[in-house]
Amino acid sequence: MFEMQVERSPQAIAVIFENTQLTYEQLNQHANQLAHMLRALGVGPNILVGICLERSLEMIVGLLGILKAGGAYVPLDPAYPLERLAFIFSDTQTPVLLTQENLINKLPPHEAQVVCLDSNWQNNTHNNKQNPINQTTADDLIYVIYTSGSTGHPKGVMIPHAGICNQLYWKQETFGLTQADKVLLNISFSFDPSVWQIFWPLCFGGQLIIARPGGYQDTAYLVKVITEHQITIFALVPSMLRVLLQQKGIENCQSLRHIICGGEALPVELIERFFAKLNLDNVLHNCYGPTEASIDTTFWTCQRGTNYAFAPIGRPITNVQIYILNENLQSVPVGESGELYIGGIGLARGYMNRPELTTEKFIFDPFSSEVKARLYKTGDLVRYLNDGNIQFLGRIDHQVKVRGFRIELEEIETILNQHPAIHQTVVIARENFPGDQRLVAYLVPHQQIPTNDELRRFLKQKLPDYMIPSSFVILEFLPLTPNGKIDRDSLPAPNQIRQAIPATKVAAQDDLELRLTEIWEKVLGIQPIGMNDNYFDLGGYSLLAVHLFTEIEKTLGQNLPLSILYQAPTIKQLADIIRQSTILASWSSLVAIQPSGTKPPLFLIHAVFGDVLSYKDLARHLGFEQPVYGLQAQGLDGKQAPYTRIEDMASHYLKEVQTLQPNGPYLLGGHSFGGVVAFEMAQQLHKQGQKVGLLTLFHSSAPAHIKQLSFSKEILTHLQTFFQTGLAYLHDKNLDKWLLNKFIGISYKFHLFFGLPFPRIYRNRYIREVNIQALKKYVPSIYPGQMTFMQIEEQVEKMETPSSKHITQLGWANLVAGELDVHYIPGTHDSILKEPNVQILSAKLKTCLEKSLTKYDEMG
Ligand code: AMP
Repeated sequence: MFEMQVERSPQAIAVIFENTQLTYEQLNQHANQLAHMLRALGVGPNILVGICLERSLEMIVGLLGILKAGGAYVPLDPAYPLERLAFIFSDTQTPVLLTQENLINKLPPHEAQVVCLDSNWQNNTHNNKQNPINQTTADDLIYVIYTSGSTGHPKGVMIPHAGICNQLYWKQETFGLTQADKVLLNISFSFDPSVWQIFWPLCFGGQLIIARPGGYQDTAYLVKVITEHQITIFALVPSMLRVLLQQKGIENCQSLRHIICGGEALPVELIERFFAKLNLDNVLHNCYGPTEASIDTTFWTCQRGTNYAFAPIGRPITNVQIYILNENLQSVPVGESGELYIGGIGLARGYMNRPELTTEKFIFDPFSSEVKARLYKTGDLVRYLNDGNIQFLGRIDHQVKVRGFRIELEEIETILNQHPAIHQTVVIARENFPGDQRLVAYLVPHQQIPTNDELRRFLKQKLPDYMIPSSFVILEFLPLTPNGKIDRDSLPAPNQIRQAIPATKVAAQDDLELRLTEIWEKVLGIQPIGMNDNYFDLGGYSLLAVHLFTEIEKTLGQNLPLSILYQAPTIKQLADIIRQSTILASWSSLVAIQPSGTKPPLFLIHAVFGDVLSYKDLARHLGFEQPVYGLQAQGLDGKQAPYTRIEDMASHYLKEVQTLQPNGPYLLGGHSFGGVVAFEMAQQLHKQGQKVGLLTLFHSSAPAHIKQLSFSKEILTHLQTFFQTGLAYLHDKNLDKWLLNKFIGISYKFHLFFGLPFPRIYRNRYIREVNIQALKKYVPSIYPGQMTFMQIEEQVEKMETPSSKHITQLGWANLVAGELDVHYIPGTHDSILKEPNVQILSAKLKTCLEKSLTKYDEMG
């Protein structure tokens, strides 16, 4: 078919890759030269030739060369782990391998003769540019593509020419490709949609545009290529369509004539989004088909305003028969669900070296008079709709689709079970965002608990990236149904199981890193994440990066290009890049610690050092439904003067709080010094006539006003005592520290005066000094409302006179006119916000938050 097209348009451009291109004639001649060489190496019908190449012009020459020699190709994705490539080599025993020089040393040991397509292989051959005489028939193999297998190894699907020939003619008759059409090759050649992307244009005169390696997942790049090259035909999976529709400039992709969408269920809501953005009728098609039946077997052209939840998969293509059958292989009535069986010209010859599996999945066709006729048992549950279209309902086994990738969960489970520390495991796919399926592995270890990094490393040696679970959840036992099977529905969501950051990981060092960590944890659905963990090693992938960067933009106001993730794949590196950029210049005291959730937000005020990092664990334990914001001290940026009076801090923080929540009831809290500021904020809110839903103090002492001495008087007093008591005084009174603090204070003012940012390491120290002075000056008045006080258990036990409520509540009892609601929590002043004490604090706080909500709900 390709050679016939070469006759029709020898000088037309056949293929373009970046700045290089080949005409039909040139491509044909290169392919012929290779074919003659391969023939000399013994390649002929049904001989398998491995091809391991990055996307390039050579890839197309290689594929055509193999087919012209009469052989069948076996795509070997260079990104696959060595063990998987080694398995494919040994399963296929390919005598010849086409590759490129820089990949030779990255391949596992194999027996194949190597031809490097980027070296001058043409010189070694007879240089015959003529079409070789065709020796292939429609029943001979065209390729063997490997897909996930439940035994722990992938399985090779052997596809003959007939099915692909039928596929290409059907596409041509249905969609009528012309010489003006440009088809984008964006799918990896180890998945079968790439087959039509390559051969449909080449057999019917269109232009094949090859996306750069890695370009498939970069939506900005895709939009650029589509608009620059005026692409008319391309393919993608629904999860990719969802992200692409959010990409800036997508509305300019008006050149598109056919978008072949498939690989997983296509939600109608996404179709509506497509029409809203692109307004193109008869362009989006939902195509369905397993690898075993030569690409697409049914299709439906998407329409506007239907009542379906998911797009139907439509009707069979030419020369394909579809049956919907029950367990007894009888047809089910319209509307009833049954398993989909496929018959006709597209069926695979079977699975490579797997005769039992082939017999199990390719059954005799009970409806055909031909003895050799087979039906492929898809494992897909479907039903007929009243209008004759077929509706996809799900799977009858544990095969899943994650971002369009076909995965047998048992393959991952089998491999995980080979890890010496693992006793039992189950892997499932969960939806994190709409349309975003993630793999989660649940593990019961023997004794020693493997780390997530260790498990990822172990799996990466054997499985492609898309099969590595995003999260690993350690369980004591797997939940069972009453009849003893694993109860997959009762497996907890990964974020319900909270883990403290282990000592091996670096924790967030400042507010920016903290905020990035929160975003990463939310988007990746895993926790804990260390500052040096690599995004891609954590199971992050490019499509998800769009969510990640949308969240970063929402929370930090930073509009970063996705490509930054490749330069800076860790939180630490990303934070450094953000710090360098000028956009963060507009500094705010309000920090989104955990901004998601629909409940009224809780505002937590910084403790004496000025930052709000210490509230991270508390916010996490309060859950994703409870938004938590922190208020950090002005001056932490090293550029502004800190507030020196509690009243000024409080009114500044209130202004920032009210930009987010203009009206009460407000929920306020603070640890230690932060409690005092929260108290003052509550006072000011009362004066404004606003309601305070909750004022909670975590072990804060009421301020005891201390009369301030002027700087000179302070020095004089110190000097007097120093001369009276001698050198020991220096140490006793920490005079050295006092002097250092004074020096830091002067130095801060100096930096401010000259507009220089104050060094980060001294900022907290200076702010602490300023806050302590502010506390000494503060004279609290009696608060008319209620207060919730989080008291430390030990404090009560140690008290000799427990009746002394005044002391127990650290001086607040006389300062609160309303009820003083006291809760007892384990820990010390410094450890109540840390694991494990923080769990009790958060549990108590949750009850208080709920109580305050009901109170205000009742008040309307
Ligand atoms: P693959 O062999 O990778 O093409 O995967 C084939 C499987 O993907 C089918 O058996 C279905 O489970 C699923 N699938 C493919 N296309 C669709 C579609 N349009 N709608 C729903 N599921 C699909």
